[in-house]
Amino acid sequence: MCRTDLQISSGDLPARVLPIVPGHQIVGRVVEVGEGVGPEFLGRRLGVGWLASACGDCEFCRGGRENLCRKATFTGWDRDGGFASQVVVRADFTQRLADEGDPVQLAPLLCGGVIGYRAFRRTEVGRGDRLGLFGFGASAWLVAQLAIAEGCQVFVVTRDESARQRAKEQGATWVGAPGESLPVPLQGAITFAPVGAVVVDALRALDRGGTCVVNAIHLDRIPEFPFEHLYWERRLISVANFTRQDAAEFLQLAQQIPIRTLVEQFPLAQANQALLQLQEDGIPGAAVLVP
Ligand SMILES: [Zn+2]
Repeated sequence: MCRTDLQISSGDLPARVLPIVPGHQIVGRVVEVGEGVGPEFLGRRLGVGWLASACGDCEFCRGGRENLCRKATFTGWDRDGGFASQVVVRADFTQRLADEGDPVQLAPLLCGGVIGYRAFRRTEVGRGDRLGLFGFGASAWLVAQLAIAEGCQVFVVTRDESARQRAKEQGATWVGAPGESLPVPLQGAITFAPVGAVVVDALRALDRGGTCVVNAIHLDRIPEFPFEHLYWERRLISVANFTRQDAAEFLQLAQQIPIRTLVEQFPLAQANQALLQLQEDGIPGAAVLVP
């Protein structure tokens, strides 16, 4: 959507962004540009994602997989300012956002949205295919909208009754609780819970040749399972971070479809409380901080 507008360089291209929405993903407006960044950046509304930089030089970066770069840095992790009222970012790692649209609604697209998009693409499901979503939090909710818009049948497995209701309203073909048998085998599945047993459930639900994508950063131990769950060329893969290309593609689709987000807003001063509530699973959608 916007990469051609940016000056791409392997150097550090700083732009000072005033966050409208801070955090690991930021929606903000550029208030100052550093050397090497065009003046057209000033005043622009930008999205700053989790991927803050990559080396641009390693085999992963050169192969279109900068999400795997060993020298990559991450917003609010390696780079300061994610949880602040101003942040310095690399201009070539930002995403241009339209001037219209509520920034609070846009912010979750840069987080669970883009990583969910990468997971969805890695399942390789398409129109008419059957996709299973195991867990139905903020990221799955965005993936469901995308998958349905692309003509997939969506099957949702979650222990949360209200999430099942939400999935049904969203247009899911089938919803059920863990342990319930799915009515048909799936071509693709994405697991969102940090629970290894869910991965085995998802594998069991796959058709021959199907792909299970684990969309979790941490996972407890995957229990032992019979090889027949993996045989017939089923695949089990993970997703890690995302590339700028993923972000650009997803933001464009999100605008076209359009994808709605489920947010709970907190003032920046209450960031700790928001994080605690997230940890305790107390927020059905995404927590968004507003300075
Ligand atoms: Zn690299």
